[in-house]
Amino acid sequence: MRIIESIQEMRFWSDAERREGRRIVLVPTMGALHEGHLSLVRDGRKRGERLVVSLFVNPAQFAPQEDFAAYPRDFERDQVLLEKEKVDVLFHPSVSEIYPEGYQSYVEVEKLSPLLCGEFRPGHFRGVATVVAKLFNIVRPHAAIFGAKDYQQLQLIRRTVRDLNFDVEVVGHPTVRDQDGLALSSRNVYLSREERAAALALHRSLKRAESLVLRGERESKRIIDAMRAEIEKEPLARIEYVKVCHPETLEQVARVEGEALLALAVWVGKARLIDNTILKA
Ligand code: AMP
Repeated sequence: MRIIESIQEMRFWSDAERREGRRIVLVPTMGALHEGHLSLVRDGRKRGERLVVSLFVNPAQFAPQEDFAAYPRDFERDQVLLEKEKVDVLFHPSVSEIYPEGYQSYVEVEKLSPLLCGEFRPGHFRGVATVVAKLFNIVRPHAAIFGAKDYQQLQLIRRTVRDLNFDVEVVGHPTVRDQDGLALSSRNVYLSREERAAALALHRSLKRAESLVLRGERESKRIIDAMRAEIEKEPLARIEYVKVCHPETLEQVARVEGEALLALAVWVGKARLIDNTILKA
């Protein structure tokens, strides 16, 4: 596995691979890798001849009071895990390589960004869309893989690719969970043993909603109320939002007709946890 830190070297490598007609797949990450990331990497391995994983904790997507400094980092461990997956290139640029002095250009996705998580994390999706656009221009992949755990991010990137004519196939990958249902996340390391147990309320509430819909419930409000009641049983959990939305526009819907996105964000201790499912009426 080659480790590349400079944009110029990354470009040079990609150009050479492209000239040979090889299909390049990119899996963008912020490191602190877990089985969720590795599942994307294995998917990527099958989708092209060359596999690039980027590891960059992107300051532009963290607000000043958020956990950029505390975000878990373990480059050596990540490197070993990616070697085992036969990754071709680990792209690991510094912050100053990506945002040199004088940097001032950003990608705004006007309607999707302020919804759901964007309401509570202003500027977050501007940072995400910007760094992904930059990674696409630097790595020049044919395809890129993103997890459905970050559903809003996946939709936002699909939108950016369409709007800005990026020649990249965006692949969504299902959420990977621990055996007990907790969605894997780098931020789960923030949880104490008691908090981890409390965090299961997210998955439980999604299951509760799915079973309500299965039994014929269509009213978003009643589904949300039942989920809130489920989560509020956990004194360590604090709900940020629970919403039923259109799966593409992410606008809230009053009723579940066809498919709807059910998304939630819940604080447990220092960890802000998100999860979602697609409800099918
Ligand atoms: P992150 O390092 O958290 O920015 O995540 C990098 C990529 O891995 C993103 O596309 C995430 O959506 C994806 N990802 C993170 N956790 C999971 C998970 N539990 N299941 C599936 N994909 C995930």
